[in-house]
Amino acid sequence: MKAQGFTTQIVHSDRRLNLESGAVHQPKHQSVLFKYDDVQELVDVFQGRNPSHAYARSSTPSMNALQNLICNMDNGLASVVFSTGMAAISATLLTLLKQGDHILVSHFLFGNTNSFMQQLNQYGIEVSFVDVTDSQHVAEHIKPNTRLLFCETIANPVTQVADVVGLTALCEAHHLLFILDTTMTPAYLFNAKAQGAHLITGSLTKYISGHGNALGGWVTDTGTFDWSTYPNINESYKGADPKLWAITQIKKKGLRDMGGSISSEACHLISVGAETLALRLDRICANALNLAAFFQRHPKVKKVYYPGLPQHPQHQRAASLFKYFGGLMSIDLIEEADPFAFLNSLDLVLNATHLGDNRTLAIPVAPTIYYEMGAARRAEMGVSDNMIRLSIGIEDLDDLIADFNQALDKIA
Ligand SMILES: *Cc1c(COP(=O)(O)O)cnc(C)c1O
Repeated sequence: MKAQGFTTQIVHSDRRLNLESGAVHQPKHQSVLFKYDDVQELVDVFQGRNPSHAYARSSTPSMNALQNLICNMDNGLASVVFSTGMAAISATLLTLLKQGDHILVSHFLFGNTNSFMQQLNQYGIEVSFVDVTDSQHVAEHIKPNTRLLFCETIANPVTQVADVVGLTALCEAHHLLFILDTTMTPAYLFNAKAQGAHLITGSLTKYISGHGNALGGWVTDTGTFDWSTYPNINESYKGADPKLWAITQIKKKGLRDMGGSISSEACHLISVGAETLALRLDRICANALNLAAFFQRHPKVKKVYYPGLPQHPQHQRAASLFKYFGGLMSIDLIEEADPFAFLNSLDLVLNATHLGDNRTLAIPVAPTIYYEMGAARRAEMGVSDNMIRLSIGIEDLDDLIADFNQALDKIA
């Protein structure tokens, strides 16, 4: 049978689990414990022979339903969901690395992920920050103890696009694990498995959920990495199929031991949000492309950072990797303009952090999300003092243009 389309698969995902009374949504399971009449069954659950549940920190039917949905979306082998994107990313790295390892990490990373990577340094894992827009440059940093490369498809706020094709070839040649955070370009926009990612990770809180009402994160194993030669897999997780070793370890150590487990309520909200992911992204990306062109023409805007613009340094690459160019952009206002005055004049657009929401959001980068890293590192990352990051929503384009226009009119 021909594989069904992206949205068809998602909207029929839960009901195909043969839910009670023909329900189309996985129920929100509230039980922390799961009882067995036969103690052998309980023992089998503990020893992995029975895939059922023991305790809700490790797994619930609600988590399984969301994992199933996400795994199909990524066309993966297996997925694990977490309470947040940061829980997913930190659990993945903490469970797959050990002291003395070296890793390559994108220089242009989500701020909290960057901060987490600094923490790994303190645990004896050496981190090299590399320019992932240029795989030649990345190659120069590979060492004998390099285990993996971690990067994002489109970075935030400057929208650098990773050289995914070059990085995949590099990881292949050096047998490095390639972990790609696809938060900015979910599976509808980008086929991470086909492009060579071994693990796909990121935040469900953003586009996949989309409605600003639930936190979540995930990691998908695409089944394309040979774990049999990876040195950091615990003997107890080396089951019959080496393809499942890492995801088992991430699940056991990351969820069971570290406890970043997602609630059933969040699983439900995220899976409902995911039903309209493609529709929302069609609208968001079209709005973003139109707005980028609008800002590009506006005399009070000095520079626009959006991969959909032909002037963007990785525009061609973005066009070949992604279905559309995403919903995130940044703008630098002209020097005379006061970014705070501009932001305070916005009426429809919200002054808020977060991205991938139905609502359009604006935030000044340097004094907020990039404040902690300091001026020197901001400069290194190409973040100017008056940069404003915008996450474009699903509002009607005319209303967004009218709001930005009136706010730009009010400044300098
Ligand atoms: C937001 C974000 C995360 C973290 O996700 P949370 O769900 O907020 O913990 C990770 N990576 C990227 C690229 C993000 O934008």
